[in-house]
Amino acid sequence: MSNHIKIAPSVHSDLLGKLAEMKKYHPQQDAPTKAAFILALFDPDSPQNPISTYELYNVVPAPLRHFLGAKDQLLDVDFTDQYPEGQKPLKSQQASATAHPETLAQLIHIPEIAEVKKQGNNLVKVGYVNQMPCPRCACSLAAGHVCTLAIDSSAFDAEWATRRDQEYINMSLKIMEESGTHMIEPQSEVPEWTTGKLPRHRLAGQEIYTNPLSVTEKADIIKGFNAHVQPFNKHTNYTATISIKSRDDFFAIGRQTLTPGIPEDEYFEKLKEQETKYSYTIPPGTALLFALQPHGIDPTEIEIEFDETPAMRDLINILGAGATHIKFPISHDLHHKMQESAEITFRTATHKSDHEEASKEKEYKIYNQLNALKVLKAALGTKLTLEVQPPTPKHDNNAAP
Ligand SMILES: [Zn+2]
Repeated sequence: MSNHIKIAPSVHSDLLGKLAEMKKYHPQQDAPTKAAFILALFDPDSPQNPISTYELYNVVPAPLRHFLGAKDQLLDVDFTDQYPEGQKPLKSQQASATAHPETLAQLIHIPEIAEVKKQGNNLVKVGYVNQMPCPRCACSLAAGHVCTLAIDSSAFDAEWATRRDQEYINMSLKIMEESGTHMIEPQSEVPEWTTGKLPRHRLAGQEIYTNPLSVTEKADIIKGFNAHVQPFNKHTNYTATISIKSRDDFFAIGRQTLTPGIPEDEYFEKLKEQETKYSYTIPPGTALLFALQPHGIDPTEIEIEFDETPAMRDLINILGAGATHIKFPISHDLHHKMQESAEITFRTATHKSDHEEASKEKEYKIYNQLNALKVLKAALGTKLTLEVQPPTPKHDNNAAP
């Protein structure tokens, strides 16, 4: 038997009031808030009071803030420049250094979620947001099983929302619709849900082990995992593994994942549109943190290792969620360049390469990659381990056969 449950009107107006306060002032930026999000957790049968609420803002992750400040666009860079011809992923790997609150809410340590799961009970997640979520955050809300999202009606009037109408709003709406995140206009509706019919699409591509494993066993798991790549992962098939230094009974592995509810053929359709910056996927490190949240693992405890240089967006998300012990490989060339000068130099991000020749574009990319790596290294120090890959042999086309 299923029942229609509505949030108590007083709770709803309290949450709207809280959001309005958050919009006025960002505690870290001494300015109005660009993106404010409240995650409210409810017992599905009793909406009189939320179990707890979390208030989140758009943030440059703490370790990076010191180096970037207002220059956060300087991490607008694609790290994952390692794809065979024709398999280049969408431009979705590009990212600013700002983590978005709708995504962070699904990654941070929330003890109540693990507690409810442990007791075998259900929990309803309701979100309140002051702007239209970007497609990445729409994927996050879907993967995080946010059942209802209350979006401030003024969200659709924002300058960037109009500018990005097609790729931005349409994609976000589509993602939420297909994944079962119900959107409401909070000035005229209150969030509601139907008991027994909560969105429960499973997040694919993540495996979690809660028994002690030897180094060999872990290596075998990684090998087996990488042997079974799903079609959509052929485009970005790096993986992330997570372990906890103080515990030998936790190990997790994951890869980029298609947002639950989105059919694979729609992903491929989107992939053909080279112009768009967004896709329907969640990158490996981020997807793994999603999978960890119900296990009560605090990202600040984890060590996360990537088998390829991860996308910057992926790093920003995991740093924003509190992870700092990170390891990934980088090319010999890039490492060599890092050694030449450890100094971080800033150049404004308006020097986009759209009107420059291809060679300049490449130069700019390397420059940005280098700068982003230097910032990361300076920010994380010994917590960031870069595994330098052996130099790639140079092919001499003029050499005699
Ligand atoms: Zn977003």
